[in-house]
Amino acid sequence: EDIRVYEFAEAIKRPMSEVIKVLFDLGLMMTKNDFLGNDEIEILSEEFDVEVTIVDPKDAFNYEEDLAQDIEKDPDATKRPPVITIMGHVDHGKTSLLDAIRKAKVSEGEAGGITQHIGAYTVQQNGEAITFLDTPGHAAFSHMRQRGTDVTDIIVIVVAADDGVKPQTLEVIKIAKESGAPVIVALNKMDKETAQPDMVKGQMAEHGISPVDWGGDVEFIPVSAKSGMGIDDLLENILITAEVLELRANENAMAKATVVESSLEKGRGPVATVIVQNGTLKVGDYVVCGSSYGRIKALIDENNKQIKSLLPSYTAVVVGLNEVPASGEVMMAMESDKEAKEYAQKRHEYDRHIELSHSTKSTLEDMTSMIAEGKLKSLKVVLKTDVHGTLEALKESLSELRNDEVKINIISSGVGGITENDVELVSNSENCVLLGFNVRPTGSVKALAKQKNVDIRTYSIIYKLLDDITMMLTGMMAPKF
Ligand code: GDP
Repeated sequence: EDIRVYEFAEAIKRPMSEVIKVLFDLGLMMTKNDFLGNDEIEILSEEFDVEVTIVDPKDAFNYEEDLAQDIEKDPDATKRPPVITIMGHVDHGKTSLLDAIRKAKVSEGEAGGITQHIGAYTVQQNGEAITFLDTPGHAAFSHMRQRGTDVTDIIVIVVAADDGVKPQTLEVIKIAKESGAPVIVALNKMDKETAQPDMVKGQMAEHGISPVDWGGDVEFIPVSAKSGMGIDDLLENILITAEVLELRANENAMAKATVVESSLEKGRGPVATVIVQNGTLKVGDYVVCGSSYGRIKALIDENNKQIKSLLPSYTAVVVGLNEVPASGEVMMAMESDKEAKEYAQKRHEYDRHIELSHSTKSTLEDMTSMIAEGKLKSLKVVLKTDVHGTLEALKESLSELRNDEVKINIISSGVGGITENDVELVSNSENCVLLGFNVRPTGSVKALAKQKNVDIRTYSIIYKLLDDITMMLTGMMAPKF
């Protein structure tokens, strides 16, 4: 299964035309891209007199399991800093709080240091380190959870004290409960006269997040990302919570890290920001990371400084991989280049199996035929554009497109590139299309879309986009466009 005609020909080193001819003689009209079933493979191997073993993708190698380290039981493990994710409703101040913490703390140690946004950073509080995940949305976090490689030790939920609990706050509470990570609530925007901390406490308590001062078990820390008020208090509380968790790692183990962000950079090639879980990641290490591998050429921290090694819970940009890994992917240090390459290749095969086991039929085509059959009443759309003007124009035009049978529901829209968050959203919503206007997905976003079987459609001409959607609505979309 899962092998195409041309791949079979390549595998047995015979011309494709011969393979197609044999199939034809057997009464099977197949073209080079068609998949061969187990029966066909068997017949073909007899015809060509070759040995074929059919490998179950489940047997494909999983290096993470293979190299699983039991940090808990490691007698050489010592204390490591906590890793924090800040989550909350949009506009409640996640970005502001992350900036405020960084600004308040980085200036102390790194005089004049120019900080870079690399997806995570570490600050010092009373001589103790705390690492924050610094990614917009929660894309990285959700990837890690899906892969079971969540690096977050403590979740800080930000709630604007003047706004209270909102839909995304509830989502975050759910995520936090599922993850089992301890929660601290940052009551933000306390500088505002309209702040009502007690109202927020009441709302949170209703959803199972009870304040300590009300007899519950969750700390609510009043802060202002704007004035910097309460930030020390928040960091102190993080350290107290971390103390209880007894977070440990073995600095001398083979390094294991998790990718937080990744991209293809001019001059540097594929780069990935990682947070180390165990061991020490060093320049010169051979590493494998999903289906990519390489030797670490450089480690660059958030202050844009080249460093030689990275301890557990610390973060840096890794340079030296042969391709861009997806965020949430685990990076492992290997004994040799050969070993790293082998693991990467096996993983590549495994990914391919997984990909092929998904339907190869376009989801858009499915939706079109469902519309034609009257099975689909609403088409969800996630829309990204390069500028605000086109966003508004497209939103308006799309909503006018709705016909009697099907309506268009724009579940998310925004200005900017197509992100992993967008792909995630589409993948989690049924009958949803992802449209980009004058924006394109980056390599890692494309990789995720492929993995999730999400179709990304990008356009640079408005009427083409509208035409395609109109065709879908009438259930007549051409199979390929
Ligand atoms: P995010 O969407 O959660 O990342 O929220 P942002 O950090 O982008 O903040 C949303 C808006 O709230 C921005 O206009 C901020 O300037 C403002 N804001 C954030 N924190 C505070 C605060 O502590 N006080 C006040 N007055 N405004 C804040």
